[in-house]
Amino acid sequence: MAGDMKPWDIAIVGAGAAGLAAAVFASAAATEEGVRLRVVLVDGARRPGAKILVSGGGRCNVTNEHVTPEDFEGGSRAIIRKVLRGFDEQRARDWFASLGVKLKAEPHGKLFPEDDKARSVLDALLGAVHGAGVEAWFGRRVTGIEVVEGEGDESAQFRLKVARSGGSSASEADEAKRDGSEPEESLLARRVILAAGGMALPKSGSDGAAFGWLRTMGHRVIAPVPSLAPLVLAESRAPGGRLRELAGVTLDLRLDLRDADGRLVASQTGSTLFTHFGLSGPAPMNLSRHLARARNDTPTIAPLLRVTLGHPSWPDTAAAERMLVAEARRTPSRRVSALLGDWYPERLARLLGDDLGTLGGLTREARREAAVRLAALPVDVSGDRGFAFAETTAGGVDLREVDARTMESRVVPGLHLCGELLDADGRIGGFNFQWAWATGYLAGRGAARLGGG
Ligand SMILES: Cc1cc2nc3c(=O)[nH]c(=O)nc-3n(C[C@H](O)[C@H](O)[C@H](O)COP(=O)(O)OP(=O)(O)OC[C@H]3O[C@@H](n4cnc5c(N)ncnc54)[C@H](O)[C@@H]3O)c2cc1C
Repeated sequence: MAGDMKPWDIAIVGAGAAGLAAAVFASAAATEEGVRLRVVLVDGARRPGAKILVSGGGRCNVTNEHVTPEDFEGGSRAIIRKVLRGFDEQRARDWFASLGVKLKAEPHGKLFPEDDKARSVLDALLGAVHGAGVEAWFGRRVTGIEVVEGEGDESAQFRLKVARSGGSSASEADEAKRDGSEPEESLLARRVILAAGGMALPKSGSDGAAFGWLRTMGHRVIAPVPSLAPLVLAESRAPGGRLRELAGVTLDLRLDLRDADGRLVASQTGSTLFTHFGLSGPAPMNLSRHLARARNDTPTIAPLLRVTLGHPSWPDTAAAERMLVAEARRTPSRRVSALLGDWYPERLARLLGDDLGTLGGLTREARREAAVRLAALPVDVSGDRGFAFAETTAGGVDLREVDARTMESRVVPGLHLCGELLDADGRIGGFNFQWAWATGYLAGRGAARLGGG
């Protein structure tokens, strides 16, 4: 096995958002202190940053004007708060401005580069990494990590096994591995920053292999499930089973997830896009992690979970029913579908109301059904589109096992963790990148032995 036996001061695994930030801030911290650190940044992809390039529809929603712990799910909100305070959204804006990327605000506080190009964000980050003198080992995939205190050099603590993939993605690296064309080497490092991502969009290089290493090293990894994934709907003849017919329609809806006893597990209100497979857009995607989490954690109750769609103006069926009584008195000959058209686009109103006739002709039972269709239409969600279509990962390393000031593992000293592989996932709106910048900043400074600040 070939190998560079002179230990690196810091080896960073993964050159996605978190790893790039960590590389820049580790080097900056060292410069601040007047020390020189040898930093190597390893990524299986020959051209890393695929996820930054596809993010925000190719425009990269870099962060948000207002980022709070409540914008995240996963581990302890108190720990998430500490991390976010360590490097907040204003610092992210200032940092990007210093790299030449000015951000502009859009609805819901989303911040995008002024030129609407994710490429500008990636180029600025890669430029900063290059300018900081960080050694980039791209096209080389880490295949294992072990603690080797004192070996080779007294101060070396980790040995990373590295496979030269020569490919631009993890799948190419895997292919090389299968056909045996992949030479292996190793590197020694005093500190390691693991920024290998979660499992979302695995073709970009993050396939969850790091979770295996972390478990072996003694970490608790909360089962990873897709987060921010579109929902797949089963089809039936009921109105809730015919929504795929509405492919292309977008509107604001409230999506409620309830357990077998009717208790609300999660609720999301916002833009919803009907598609040929089911539901996409912010509200369904934000809901997906709750459904995936509940289904994964308690498989016995999974079949009993219920998702309903309702118009945001009608929070409960009782209120909708009272309105239907009043409208039936006022305009008995009006069709139910025409009334539903007061809130919904015509195609949806007709799908929901055509078979119900006129307001005046509704039986008590049919009136109740009309109210349910407006306020809490049951839909049969067969699942989500999985990691291949998810924007991030719910689950990951238990946040209690890292020091929120330096992102150093409490289980493996010298190992710092950042980004999506930690148990925190943000909703749509730039929050996941903010998590990556903040944890990358803290891990970078922490590994340079300076801590946040
Ligand atoms: C389609 C899409 C759109 C998105 N849009 C937005 C958005 O607009 N705003 C937002 O805030 N978030 C968005 N996200 C989420 C955001 O991209 C992620 O939260 C963020 O990229 C996570 O950063 P990371 O550095 O932790 O992981 P990743 O970006 O996944 O980076 C991990 C890196 O590690 C490398 N790697 C993995 N394993 C190994 C290994 N064994 N050896 C070497 N290298 C390895 C990978 O090649 C990869 O480069 C989007 C995600 C997707 C999929």
